[in-house]
Amino acid sequence: MRILLASSEVHPYSKTGGLADMIGALGKAFARAGHHVGVVTPLYRGVAARFPEIRRVDWRMDLPLATWHARAELWALEPLKGLTVYFIHKPKFFDRGSLYHEHGKDYHDNGERFIFFSKCVAHLARYLPWQPEVVHLNDWQTALVPALILHQARREGWGNRPRTCLTIHNLAYQGVFPRSAYAMTNLPGDYFHPEGAEYFGKLNCLKAGIVYADRVTTVSPRYAREITTEEFGCGLDGVLRKRKPPVQGILNGVDYEEWKTIGNPHLSYPFSAEDLSGKAASKAALQQELGLPVEPKIPLFGAITRLTEQKGIDIELAALEQMLPGNLQFVLLGSGDHGYERAFQKLAHRFPNKVAVRLGYDQGLSHRIEAGCDFYLMPSKFEPCGLNQMYSLRYGTVPIVRAVGGLDDTVVDAAEDPAAASGIKFVEYSANALAKAMHKAVVIYADAELLRHYQRNGMAADYSWDRTVGGYLEAFQSV
Ligand code: ADP
Repeated sequence: MRILLASSEVHPYSKTGGLADMIGALGKAFARAGHHVGVVTPLYRGVAARFPEIRRVDWRMDLPLATWHARAELWALEPLKGLTVYFIHKPKFFDRGSLYHEHGKDYHDNGERFIFFSKCVAHLARYLPWQPEVVHLNDWQTALVPALILHQARREGWGNRPRTCLTIHNLAYQGVFPRSAYAMTNLPGDYFHPEGAEYFGKLNCLKAGIVYADRVTTVSPRYAREITTEEFGCGLDGVLRKRKPPVQGILNGVDYEEWKTIGNPHLSYPFSAEDLSGKAASKAALQQELGLPVEPKIPLFGAITRLTEQKGIDIELAALEQMLPGNLQFVLLGSGDHGYERAFQKLAHRFPNKVAVRLGYDQGLSHRIEAGCDFYLMPSKFEPCGLNQMYSLRYGTVPIVRAVGGLDDTVVDAAEDPAAASGIKFVEYSANALAKAMHKAVVIYADAELLRHYQRNGMAADYSWDRTVGGYLEAFQSV
């Protein structure tokens, strides 16, 4: 199949979260399976310097944006046979300090930036000589593409247009802009109404994708069900319930070539389910690196996360307050909301021998935390799929998760199946429920055999890409 993927972030070029991991791995997996694959993404600041192999292509885009025209260059790289990554080079929009926001504020022109990006995607879908059969869009930043393609097919004689599939990685981000932003799509009014791209008088990019894509998927089966309910639907549950065929949940996979405990350049002490001595050494190294007492017997909890409301940070902080007088350590790597950042810093200040906090983004440290911790906290309010709980399973770090979305789909609690237990789940969104789950963890930790049982189950769990790839290919074939 000839597949064009589009995403506002792609690992290893740019990343703020799981979306980047998923697109990076999916592109490789499709190419390895023998498909012809293109990935389109913006050329952000610093990418060309970090990847000097990226070359300018002799192809210029000059596309209408409301009443003016915007130009961009096309740059490209072929990291793998059968896979080309296309970069949209438009410094005015993408040569910035960050991807979407700075100093806690969204860029004022995000609408313009990603409407333009979506136009570039539709342009490539139409004119790339290898003629993609399927265009796979991801999240709001590219969700206008199905409407753009549909319109060009209807009005401009684009015969045999590619089919479109939109994947929702997080329904909480919808790309909502004032009505005036719609002019930048250069679409006629036919698409701006309550059954289309309009949401209470505003432009809602994600909604446009849900309505106009040939197929809509999301990143776990449970999240697919949840988002059709008012509780998790973020105002779009009605639109999602109307989708035909219904929204399909395809669980994200893990790139085990990167997230591995043996031969991993980020880890000094390899280990496996058979021999966990390297994990003990990783724990000691992590404690030392972060300035905590090197204590093998104290359970070490960890978290690596965006500091946003979604991730359950408020109940995490409150549960830690309850638990920290006891015998445990906690390490956090994260960045985001300044209030949460300060709260964690304060906690580290009050419990210098028990809490270590690193603010910022650090890929290497994220591997070392996954490897060195005994337990991993993920008390999300909602979680479309979640990757860190799957990384934790593979690294023998027992995840403690709230039973929502992909967390519920990937972790097995002893109450569900004692023989297959791989983590600890709790249901109620409260600090008490999380603290109770952490208590259970402390009890498990005191029983070395029981802990090994959890670790063995987790490390044996396989969330590799093959299954995910099969799910997407089936979805693509169906359109
Ligand atoms: P989300 O996409 O909602 O942020 P996921 O669990 O799906 O959550 O994916 C998060 C990804 O981002 C993981 O690969 C995680 O390790 C990584 N990550 C998040 N925060 C940081 C950080 N501060 N430093 C390094 N990696 C991070």
